[in-house]
Amino acid sequence: MTLSPPFGSSLPFSLHISPTPLFSPSLSSPPFSSEPDWASVTLGVFVCQGCSLLHRGIPHISRVKSVQQEIWDTSEVELMAAMGNEPAKAKYEQKVPAFYYRPKHTDCKLLREQWIRARYERNEFEFIEKQEPYSAGYREGFLWKRGRDNGQFLSRKFILSEREGALKYFNKQDARDPKAVMKIETLNATFQPAKIGNPYGLQITYLRDNSTRNIFVYHSDSKEMVDWFNAIRAARFHYLQVAFPGASDEELVPKLTRSFMKEGFMEKTGPKHTEGFKKRWFTMDDRRLMYFKDPLDAYARGEVFIGSKENSYTVLPGLPPSTQGYHWNHGITIVTPDRKFLFACETEAEQRDWIAAFQRVINRPMRPQEYAGKFDGQC
Ligand SMILES: [Zn+2]
Repeated sequence: MTLSPPFGSSLPFSLHISPTPLFSPSLSSPPFSSEPDWASVTLGVFVCQGCSLLHRGIPHISRVKSVQQEIWDTSEVELMAAMGNEPAKAKYEQKVPAFYYRPKHTDCKLLREQWIRARYERNEFEFIEKQEPYSAGYREGFLWKRGRDNGQFLSRKFILSEREGALKYFNKQDARDPKAVMKIETLNATFQPAKIGNPYGLQITYLRDNSTRNIFVYHSDSKEMVDWFNAIRAARFHYLQVAFPGASDEELVPKLTRSFMKEGFMEKTGPKHTEGFKKRWFTMDDRRLMYFKDPLDAYARGEVFIGSKENSYTVLPGLPPSTQGYHWNHGITIVTPDRKFLFACETEAEQRDWIAAFQRVINRPMRPQEYAGKFDGQC
């Protein structure tokens, strides 16, 4: 028997299996996830268009077909009826560690592709021993690290040790003293392919003397890169389990790594507001607004702490009337208990996005531990 299109909702198995997105609703976001028009006829799962493109990259594991536009034979229909997304999840995701990053549809291609390969090609979540590269509590290897002075990427040895509570890297292979010791306590990692100019580019941040330091790394192998990322998450998870005994996995997992709330260029002036405006790269990371001369600088020129409205922090569109010296016309004023910070955006859209990002932080009440990390802006 051969089914010819369009059969859409008249699929014989649609009564039993709803074509749910590959990801759970809380993790999915438009435009990819709403209507899965594709199916992997070898794995027996429905996928959205974005994921179908990634499935095409592993043809020995997954063969994708359009639900509407292609001809299906009986055995394919039967597999879809026998498997389906929920049973596939039960099989291929049975032992996903709590710390393991489950990508959203808006995440970079590297994360989304490796999530598919980890489940369906390497069967990593059916066999715990395959998780050793990120769950062992120790990881050692080489990464390409961007040099601070010339911007060239150089091979550097990295060691992540949960026992030592740190990620370290060494400038020379036989060096005994690490070039940097990054405490797991303040470590963060976020993929930034566009900014770094590499599809596997990872930004690692940590605090030294309570100011943020950046390093930029990549590995030429996509699995290795994602393994490093998840090893860092595992280390953070185990650290937080000790630091917050009794906290649930659901409470800890969002704290493992975080992406920046917003990044981009704005102009800023100094505390007197007469210093003139200079273009700087800004990163909003949780409650820290940092600015850099170059997006890939190792450390910020300054950091502004953004508290909550209960602590008299406010964000306003526009600049005070007497302000001079800006080149961009879309102003933002942040009022803190100590002073006003003035910024200018190039476009109205940027101004709107920045205000929305500041507003989200200001609307969120401060947690007690955030007071301990409070620091004053320096301009
Ligand atoms: Zn998808």
